[in-house]
Amino acid sequence: MAKSKICPLCGEEIAGFQHYSFATIGIDVEPENDQEICGMCFVRLDSIKKYGATEDQIKGLNADLQGKNDEQLIKNCSLVIQDSRLSPEEQIERERQKNEVIAQERLNFEKKIDALMVTSGFNFEGYKITEYLGFFTYETAIGMGFFKGIASNFSNFFGTESNSLRSKLSEARVIVLDGLKVDVVNIGANAIIGIDVDYTMFGDTIVGVIANGTAVKIEKTDL
Ligand SMILES: [Zn+2]
Repeated sequence: MAKSKICPLCGEEIAGFQHYSFATIGIDVEPENDQEICGMCFVRLDSIKKYGATEDQIKGLNADLQGKNDEQLIKNCSLVIQDSRLSPEEQIERERQKNEVIAQERLNFEKKIDALMVTSGFNFEGYKITEYLGFFTYETAIGMGFFKGIASNFSNFFGTESNSLRSKLSEARVIVLDGLKVDVVNIGANAIIGIDVDYTMFGDTIVGVIANGTAVKIEKTDL
């Protein structure tokens, strides 16, 4: 049986399907300092943050914190109180700034994806490989539906069904190549060598599409 989690604030059990924390309230808390809380406490803290804390709410919060000796919890709750003092305009402005940062990070990531160099070979002319970051694979599966039997009847490939099949396969190819690129950029690579896409039949109706390659860091050589 799964061990049930207990809300650090009120001591009630956290239902398995709930995923509330100080971050989900919108508190600026580092992931390692975040704490999971129950749905009731989420609603309580969320309303404090949005509409300001009443005296009773502060009292209730202090009562819950008393004697717990959980410094992180006290810190996180005081961040909620702090935010509750911001005016709606200030909260909106802060939200806007946060979204701007996220958008900028996204843009930077997309730039790295665009700049990622890829080869089916094992080097790039004018560059040297400075670090090998490992072999990566990314896969997806596509159902062939009415292409059933295609493995035993290859003539279908050249028949009327072939165009639709081809577009499905090329779509899957894009998915796995994009997935592979995202994964390697995430670990700090700026190039992939030995990139390859393979297809595997699972039974008659499912095709597995797998992209793989070795993530590397490359640098321009002077010359
Ligand atoms: Zn709780």
